[in-house]
Amino acid sequence: MHAAILPTAGRNVVVVGTQWGDEGKGKIVDWLTDHAQGVVRFQGGHNAGHTLVIAGRKTALQLIPSGVMRAGVACYIGNGVVVDPAHLLQEIERIEQLGIDVRSRLFVSEACPLILPFHVEMDRAREALRESSGSGKIGTTGKGIGPAYEDKVARRALRVQDLKHPQRFEDKLRELVELHNAELTGVLQAAPLAWQPMLDAAMAAAEQIRPLMADVGYRLFQAHGAGANLLFEGAQGTLLDIDHGTYPYVTSSNCVAGNAAAGAGIGPGLLHYILGITKAYTTRVGAGPFPTELPMDVAGTVGHHLSTVGQERGTVTGRARRCGWLDAAALKRSMIINGISGLCITKLDVLDGLPEINICTGYELGASRLDILPLDADEIAACKPVYETLPGWSETTAGLTNWEQLPLNARRYLERMQALIGAPIDMVSTGPDRVHTILLRHPFRA
Ligand code: IMP
Repeated sequence: MHAAILPTAGRNVVVVGTQWGDEGKGKIVDWLTDHAQGVVRFQGGHNAGHTLVIAGRKTALQLIPSGVMRAGVACYIGNGVVVDPAHLLQEIERIEQLGIDVRSRLFVSEACPLILPFHVEMDRAREALRESSGSGKIGTTGKGIGPAYEDKVARRALRVQDLKHPQRFEDKLRELVELHNAELTGVLQAAPLAWQPMLDAAMAAAEQIRPLMADVGYRLFQAHGAGANLLFEGAQGTLLDIDHGTYPYVTSSNCVAGNAAAGAGIGPGLLHYILGITKAYTTRVGAGPFPTELPMDVAGTVGHHLSTVGQERGTVTGRARRCGWLDAAALKRSMIINGISGLCITKLDVLDGLPEINICTGYELGASRLDILPLDADEIAACKPVYETLPGWSETTAGLTNWEQLPLNARRYLERMQALIGAPIDMVSTGPDRVHTILLRHPFRA
């Protein structure tokens, strides 16, 4: 019998960011993990940064699924993720230093493409060239993500499974180094890289990575059939999706919920509920259009308030995040592309004390009025947001745990948001700790 129709089969939830990343997905994934037996990454790499605060202690995860912070939960890195072997081992060791067992429950797909040192060099050198030539940086995290996905799509990537075959690894590596050195030296004015040290490092890492290699899709299918609840943890955000985001100011993978199936190796019928994580305002790291962006430099302004009260600094790069009002027209696009079942609103408390709050309901683009984010980055850059203004609240919402405790105007803001986006709010996060959560409908029980 098919696992999906077994009476004991588990229920699976996908968590995605609905904006430009940094919506606070890590905390919610961690919270939901209480109800899951497995957590799965399906795209991106260590460009992601998930900050978790557990019992007041801050932990940042980049590649390893957030479920690792819960004892006994299996952690899967699906085929859609690009893996930097050196980083993977460092992150494992960092978590192990907290006294947490990682290796016995971490499964890495054999089909993951590897990020190798030339990818990092190319990523950084291309950004430098874009800057010096005046064509404009993308503002990547500099982790080699884009170049690694390029090799995957060009069908020449070294994959995790190649680590099992030293000769095959060496042959492919030498070809790749030759190819990429041509770009590094000929186009990017960077130094060439030697293949031997890369091979030595990869083979040393292979010893430790081999026991973690797994047929992740099949394992997930079996776990689901045996009744496990699975949580698929998206990285980045919908508006950074390679196809649906503000191209070319995007990351190099599909961040949308549908990719949880292809990027983990299961069928889309096993994705039962899609939770869209939405910050109560908007932030963006790196370059690219952002219609509701506010200036942040002057104390006393809303932009400055969001940036400082929200502590809006990147987990991976430490860069200041750009801040602005909530953009419901962009969220409408996210809702449609992801097929959102319910929303979780995060960082509502950052808006506490603002006398008025704006929501962008659409845009003026020349003589046209749009009710959804356009697809062309230049058009987005030319969009003038149309705002609806709601009254703020002076009470604090930080740490509240039920809906009725929320100030009336905070509830009105959330209700208006829900109506404009067209998806129900099922959760509200009111602070960084696990317990700072208002639950309206449980994703695993909806
Ligand atoms: P890349 O993923 O390093 O290639 O960067 C491409 C774009 O995605 C840049 O604008 C980055 O700032 C952005 N980005 C990548 N990962 C994250 C993330 O986890 N949160 C927010 N932005 C991200």
